[in-house]
Amino acid sequence: MLHKMEWDSTGGGLEVSNVVPPHIHESSQSMSSTSSSISEHEFSCHCCYDILVNPTTLTCGHNFCRHCLALWWESSHKNECPECREKWEGFPRINILLRDATDKLFHDVVHRRRAEIQANPKISRSLLAFQRYGDNLGRARTNQNKGAGIFFSGVLVALTCVAVMVLVYHWGSGVVEQHDLLISKPVSHWTPEEVVLWLEQLGPWAQLYREPFQQENVNGRLLLMLGDEELLKSPYSIENQAHRRAILAELDRVKALGVKPPQNLWEYKAANAGKSLFLLYALKRSPRLTLFYLYLFDYSETFLPFLHTCCPAITHIDQSVRESSFLNTQLEPSWRQWAEFLVKYLLLPYQLIAEFAWDWLAVHYWTSRFIIVNAMLLSVLEGCALWRLWTAARIRTLPRKMWNHLWKMLSQGFAFALLWPFVPQFVCNCLFYWALYFSPIINIDLVVQQLMHPETQAL
Ligand SMILES: [Zn+2]
Ligand SMILES: [Zn+2]
Repeated sequence: MLHKMEWDSTGGGLEVSNVVPPHIHESSQSMSSTSSSISEHEFSCHCCYDILVNPTTLTCGHNFCRHCLALWWESSHKNECPECREKWEGFPRINILLRDATDKLFHDVVHRRRAEIQANPKISRSLLAFQRYGDNLGRARTNQNKGAGIFFSGVLVALTCVAVMVLVYHWGSGVVEQHDLLISKPVSHWTPEEVVLWLEQLGPWAQLYREPFQQENVNGRLLLMLGDEELLKSPYSIENQAHRRAILAELDRVKALGVKPPQNLWEYKAANAGKSLFLLYALKRSPRLTLFYLYLFDYSETFLPFLHTCCPAITHIDQSVRESSFLNTQLEPSWRQWAEFLVKYLLLPYQLIAEFAWDWLAVHYWTSRFIIVNAMLLSVLEGCALWRLWTAARIRTLPRKMWNHLWKMLSQGFAFALLWPFVPQFVCNCLFYWALYFSPIINIDLVVQQLMHPETQAL
C-alpha cells in the first residue's frame, strides 16, 4: 500500500509538470510506465542521453552518469563540466539522493545499463582510473596537511628569518647605496675615490694601477680625457697592451653610457629594475622562451654576455684581462660555443642559468648558491613532468601543452609590460627578493611531493 502511494504521488507530480491528464486511479504497473516515459528527460544524462546511472553532481550543479564523467575526464584531461565547462573543485561524488530516486523510478533501465557498464572493459578501466585519481587527490591533501606541510612551514619560517637578517645586513652596510650612486652618477661628477673604486672593479689585474690613479687625484672629468698615449706614459705607465686596451674599452663604455655600467647583480638590478624582475620570473617559468626573447630583443647587452659566461670560448688572451673585459663579451660566438649553447638550451636550460650563477660565486656568495640550487630543483621538476607524461602515455599531448604554455607566457608577459610602470618600487623589491630567495624552498617542497607521490600530480 505504501509502495503504491509512493508511485502515485511521484507520478502525479510529474504529470502535472508535463501537463498530462491524471491517471491516478490506474494500476501501479501502468502508472510507473507512464511516469518513466514522461520524466525520462529530467533524469537523463547530457552525455549519453540515457537515464542517469550513479549520477554524479559537479560544483556547477550539473549531473552526469559517473562512467560518462570518467570517460570525459580521461579523454579531455580536464576537470571541467562537459556541459558548461566550469571547473569542478575537489573530487566529485555520487549524488545519493538522485541515485536512489533514479534506481527506484527506472529500475529496469538502470539495471540493464549497470550490467552493460560492468561488461564493458574500457568503461570499467576509466572508472577505475577516475577513482584512483580521487583517492590520490584525497591522500595528497591529507599528507600535505600533515607531516611534510609542518616540516616545510618550519623550514620556511627559519629561512624567512635568515633572509630578513641578510637583507637588513645588506641594506644596513650601505653596499647597495654606494653602487646605486656610481651607476646613476654622471662620470664627469665622479670624485677621485670613485674613479679608483671603478678601476678596482675592472678586475684583479687593475689593482696594479691603483697607486698612480690615487696619486694623480684623477677625477671623473680627467678620466674622460685619458687616451692610449696618456696611459702608456708616466705616471700611469701601463705597459701591458692588453690592460690598456681593457681600460680604454671600459672607458668607452662609460663614455657611451654617461654613468658606470653595472658590474654585478645588485648594480644590474639597480640599473635595470624592471628587466631583472622580469628575468627572474620568466627564466624560472620558461627558460627557453626567455632566452629566445633575449636573443631577439636584448642581444648585445644581455644575451651575448650570458652566452660567453655559460659557454666560454677557448682563447689565448691573457686570462687576467679576459675576466673583466667587456670587449670579450661582445665578440661573435664561435660555432663551437653556439653548438654547446644550443644543446644545453634544448636539454637542460636551467643548467645554463646555474653555470651563469656559478661564474658569479666569488662575487655573490649566497645569492649564487640560491640560484644554483633553484636551477637544479627546476630541472628535476621538469624531468618529473616529462616522465609523468611518458608513463601516462600522454606524450602526444606535449605539443598542445607547449602551445598553451606559449600563449600563457605571452599573455602574462604582455600584462606585466602594461602593469609594470604602475607598480610601486617597494612591491617590486619584495617580489624580487621573494623570487630570488624563497622559490627554492617552495621548489624543494614540490620536488619532495613529486618523489613521494609521483602519480598524484597527474593533471
Ligand atoms: Zn551518461
Ligand atoms: Zn556544468
